[in-house]
Amino acid sequence: MRQFIALLITLLCINASYADNRATLLDFSFTTLEKRTQIIIDLDKKIKYSINTNVQKIHLNIQNVKLLSQTYDKIFYTDSRIKKTHIKRQKNTMNFVFSTAEKYNVNSYLLQPDEKYQHHRLVINLNNITAQQKIKKQKNNKLTRQNINQKTILIDAGHGGQDPGAIGYRHTREKHITLSIAKKLAKLINRTKGMKAVLTRRGDYFVGLTKRIKIAQANKASVFVSIHADAVQRRSARGASVYTLSERGGSTKFARQLERSQNIWQSFDSRKNLIKNDQYLNKILWDFSRKDRDIQSQKLGYKILKQMSKIGYLHKKTPQKAGFIVLKTPAIPSVLVETAFISNPLEEKRLNNTKEQDKIANAIYQGILNYYR
Ligand SMILES: [Zn+2]
Repeated sequence: MRQFIALLITLLCINASYADNRATLLDFSFTTLEKRTQIIIDLDKKIKYSINTNVQKIHLNIQNVKLLSQTYDKIFYTDSRIKKTHIKRQKNTMNFVFSTAEKYNVNSYLLQPDEKYQHHRLVINLNNITAQQKIKKQKNNKLTRQNINQKTILIDAGHGGQDPGAIGYRHTREKHITLSIAKKLAKLINRTKGMKAVLTRRGDYFVGLTKRIKIAQANKASVFVSIHADAVQRRSARGASVYTLSERGGSTKFARQLERSQNIWQSFDSRKNLIKNDQYLNKILWDFSRKDRDIQSQKLGYKILKQMSKIGYLHKKTPQKAGFIVLKTPAIPSVLVETAFISNPLEEKRLNNTKEQDKIANAIYQGILNYYR
């Protein structure tokens, strides 16, 4: 029995030594120069590593590696740039965190052994950020801030080109009415401080539905408003309606899923990294933004309807939920406004009247303004 145990231990030891294919960190050396601090780590083999920097920290992550006790002490170097170092070990991964005096431009590379140098080396440079780079960065930050304050409203004139849309009793084509109102609306928006309008089409040509969504996404639109005119067989049908998209609102299964995810949600700080790596959370986040989008779409829909009621009849008094492709813009609150019934001769006449078009554009515009207020 004892023999068997001895054999077992031997086998385990052999296994353990075979399993140890980790690289060894042989040496750390630091050099402080006028414009940078250089860290060189000597290694017995090539490694996989990653570096992340934030305001005053540099995280160096080396996988499958071990540290010799005689190397350990050499890590805790300080100078005008490096204030403190600490090490965290997770299984075979070593995390080095260098706390720095300010933010530096960090670059790094691996070197192979050569005639002069027998070891593999990881070189990390903490370069001073020059005054010029600082100014550039400040400028960029300012620009981003301006962009955040600037709201882009995507205005989609329904139909166009070979797609005439609905055709009125007096042969009015929906595509012309929608473009005309869309352009008027864009004009009002572009006159407003902090707002910018982007049109999905500016003339009588065809734009596919997917393309319209892509335009909204590419322009980072904060809302998407699609303009149409209704048509039905019954000529007396009249008034405006607004449609929003709601794909899965109120489903109990979804509610449960949300509840569960919210608990997970609160227990992590570094959400971003986590979300990137976790497909489940990623999906939930997507649903989150979708749910939020649906609520926002409803809100926008109500605001527009309220204004529309001041200038004419409403066909439906609340925003209607629908699944138009053009409304499926992820995370962008979207509404589709049926301005009036082109199939109703009286409303067709109204839709053709420039002054009435102004009123409609203005009502939608006021609705958008109230939505942001
Ligand atoms: Zn239409």
